Amino acid sequence: MPTWPCQLFIDGVWSDSHSGRTWSVTNPATGKELANVALADAMDVDRAVEAARRAFDEGEWARMDPLKRGRLLFRLAERIRENMADLAMTDTLNVGKPIRDTMGFDVPCAADLFESYAGLPDKISGKCFGNLADNVTLQIREPMGVIAAIVPWNFPLTNAAIKLAPILACGNTVVLKPSEVSPLSALMLAKLAAEVGFPPGVINVIHGTGHEAGAALVKHPGVDKITFTGRHQTGARMLEAAQVGMKGVMLELGGKTPSIVFPDAPLDNVINGVITGIFYNLGQVCVAGSRLLIHESQHDDLLERIVAKVRSLRQGDPTDPDMQLGCLATPAHCDTVRKCVQQAEQEGARCVLTGNRPVDPLDCFYPPTVFDQVTAGMTVAREEVFGPVLSVMTYRDEAEAVRMANDSEFGLMANIWTSDGTRALRVARQIRAGRIAINGGGALRANVPVFGYKLSGIGAELGFDEAVHEYCSSKAILYSLATEKSGWPE
Ligand code: NAD
Repeated sequence: MPTWPCQLFIDGVWSDSHSGRTWSVTNPATGKELANVALADAMDVDRAVEAARRAFDEGEWARMDPLKRGRLLFRLAERIRENMADLAMTDTLNVGKPIRDTMGFDVPCAADLFESYAGLPDKISGKCFGNLADNVTLQIREPMGVIAAIVPWNFPLTNAAIKLAPILACGNTVVLKPSEVSPLSALMLAKLAAEVGFPPGVINVIHGTGHEAGAALVKHPGVDKITFTGRHQTGARMLEAAQVGMKGVMLELGGKTPSIVFPDAPLDNVINGVITGIFYNLGQVCVAGSRLLIHESQHDDLLERIVAKVRSLRQGDPTDPDMQLGCLATPAHCDTVRKCVQQAEQEGARCVLTGNRPVDPLDCFYPPTVFDQVTAGMTVAREEVFGPVLSVMTYRDEAEAVRMANDSEFGLMANIWTSDGTRALRVARQIRAGRIAINGGGALRANVPVFGYKLSGIGAELGFDEAVHEYCSSKAILYSLATEKSGWPE
């Protein structure tokens, strides 16, 4: 069992919260308490932002040789890999993810992100306008300042790394607020960063609720930019908070990903892709492929094969390496998913699969569930369930498939399955989403930005040019070469 820091990490020091309050972090698979973690309030937020402000304004970080900054990021990547087993077990215990996923994706991905962004600091450059008659102008990029980073619980360590790696590579300081549900791996990350030599105040991690610590953080006048991942309703609050001081905002929000299967697609790949697309992490994935659009000629065959395969998935103890599915992250979230399923039934969707769930104290092991005969107006087709619920719909031709895919308030991602490359690109261009995966090519990569259309977000996460755009300020320096004195014309 890993051991966890249970205090706030501010200015390089571990401290209790100012109020002395704590929050019981629980294992959703067993109902047992894992740790009692200090709970920050507005006073703690003040301390964290002030520390980040001081480290930015007065410390060496923003002015550090970029190669040195990059080396620290690289060392952090290596420390994450050295602590892989503990970090993976932490997120598995904290949010019920199978250990095969946290070992196979969450922790390696976090390490890869820091390694990848370790190469960025010395590549950040600007522009020179050297063709003006009597003026040389430089456009330079500078670190932006103090960034408030707020993340959800579905990939606790990976979400923290997605924010921190580009923020730090660009020379900013940061106050990270993980979800109140899942703070443990973020606190471990802070500890590892201190061990490899990040200066005090550069990374601050405060654990607190959204309505208290989160709200105080985003309103804080010492923050230059808010970067947020979470629900679109909470994202709207970030926009309100950003008005105080005209802060920058980057929002990565929810999705309702359509997967269009064309009749010429290789069906074995489709079946695997559709199943992992929705049931991986029990659907608690922003890009979960929750709407499956099948051509009417293939409906019966494909649905039968998908259901048969889903029945064979192994769900149980998340710490067992054999399990493919664990449990949902909290009982409250499980209730939300259960209500969505009940509503789908009431609205007339036909439930063709919902399994037996392993008995557990908190009732968090929600089974994979498949609804057929879903129509566009049903709530299950419109709202993000963020759980293991697949909605199957049929289309008659390509134009209808595109219309159905676009019939959503979200626009985070879409999947297209076809052997016809021309069709794949034609359809990709018509879909209003920031990420289109063709034949399953949708993996997260540091160098590929994540964009969101419509309710799915503002700005871009990851990517290199995009990271510099999001986390550096630009400044024009205009140098006159005029030899004659300037002023009002005589
Ligand atoms: P949430 O919006 O409820 O919470 C996210 C974070 O915001 C948490 O840390 C929470 O404490 C904080 N928060 C809540 N209210 C706040 C407030 N008033 N002020 C400041 N902070 C506040 O989201 P969630 O339920 O934790 O996460 C699930 C959502 O995240 C889903 O919609 C999912 O699609 C989205 N998500 C998106 C991406 C992406 O890249 N687009 C990635 C992962 C998750």
